[in-house]
Amino acid sequence: MNIETIAIQAGRTIDKATGAVMPPIHLSSTYLRDNEQEFVYSRVGNPTRNALEECLAALEDGAEAVAFASGMAAVAAVFQTLGKGDHVLLADDTYFGVRELVNDLLARWGLEHSLVDMTDLEAVKAAIRPNTRLLWIETPSNPMLKISDIAAIASIAHESGALLGVDGTWATPMLQPALALGADVVVHSTTKYLGGHSDLTGGVVVVKEQGELLEKVRFVQGIGGGVPSGFDCWLLLRGIRTLPYRMRGHCANARQVAHFLADHPKVHTIYYPGLEDHPNHDVAKRQMRDFGGMLSIRVVGGADSADKVAASTKIFWRATSLGGVESLIEHRAPVEDENTKTPWDLLRISVGLEHPDDLIADLAQALSKI
Ligand SMILES: *Cc1c(COP(=O)(O)O)cnc(C)c1O
Repeated sequence: MNIETIAIQAGRTIDKATGAVMPPIHLSSTYLRDNEQEFVYSRVGNPTRNALEECLAALEDGAEAVAFASGMAAVAAVFQTLGKGDHVLLADDTYFGVRELVNDLLARWGLEHSLVDMTDLEAVKAAIRPNTRLLWIETPSNPMLKISDIAAIASIAHESGALLGVDGTWATPMLQPALALGADVVVHSTTKYLGGHSDLTGGVVVVKEQGELLEKVRFVQGIGGGVPSGFDCWLLLRGIRTLPYRMRGHCANARQVAHFLADHPKVHTIYYPGLEDHPNHDVAKRQMRDFGGMLSIRVVGGADSADKVAASTKIFWRATSLGGVESLIEHRAPVEDENTKTPWDLLRISVGLEHPDDLIADLAQALSKI
């Protein structure tokens, strides 16, 4: 089946009690113990969460999906399958929350890590250590939109006996089949495009195969307890039904906005993998179905200018996060940690589903203020 069909069909059941075509929301925390029930307690298993997990596993063509209460809980679950003395190699521009996770929380339980530019394959090979168990990439990356070559990095990981994990949040399963390209595990912040309406937080881990990794992630879910509510699972499932068509709109709008900004005199640099002069354009073309709805720009005049543009847009809301139907703009460096490498004149843009002419007109008037 094609992904448009999977997004609508997967995880669907007809409610036996009522014949309802759309699923009920199971909010109950506990279930009758007559020894024949599949469900016992909702931290460990919930029917609405099961339907969601079935759908997410099908979208990624993975063995199983494990749902969490946020993207960070999902990332943390994968890292928590490792232990003291293990080493993780991460992309140097990984989402700043993940860098804080390994620097602080997981450093304190003995997990070693180092950062490398994952677009430099020789550097990746050189950075592998005898105790490297996991390579972690984010592609496209946040907020620099670097593209890492999933297939090439998977080979490097597997040659040294490590696993490859991909944070595919910005691409979604619609645009980038990370497991088919060679990853062992893929994570999404479902808060973003999968939910698609900026009204829930969630995360998911999808594994390629049954086995030890899956068992450990399930254990973190049930015992760590960072689980999504039945209501959030239902909302997310509702959002996923339109993912493929929303992504078409995000990609088409972002393409138009990117071409406008690429030629704008107040924009000195643009990061958008769909432009031919993007340094990783060829890799993006090979491994992605389209280039996504995200882009970053750097404006002339430094941090003050960036701040002024973000304050001057009328359709783009000035807010963090991404992937909703509404367009957002954010002056990024001030919200990251103090060691951020994000340039201070950078604006991150989540292109929504409004009409592209209105979006371009809004950016034009905001850029005219600097
Ligand atoms: C937002 C985001 C996360 C974190 O997800 P939350 O749902 O906010 O916890 C992780 N990775 C990427 C690439 C993100 O954009």
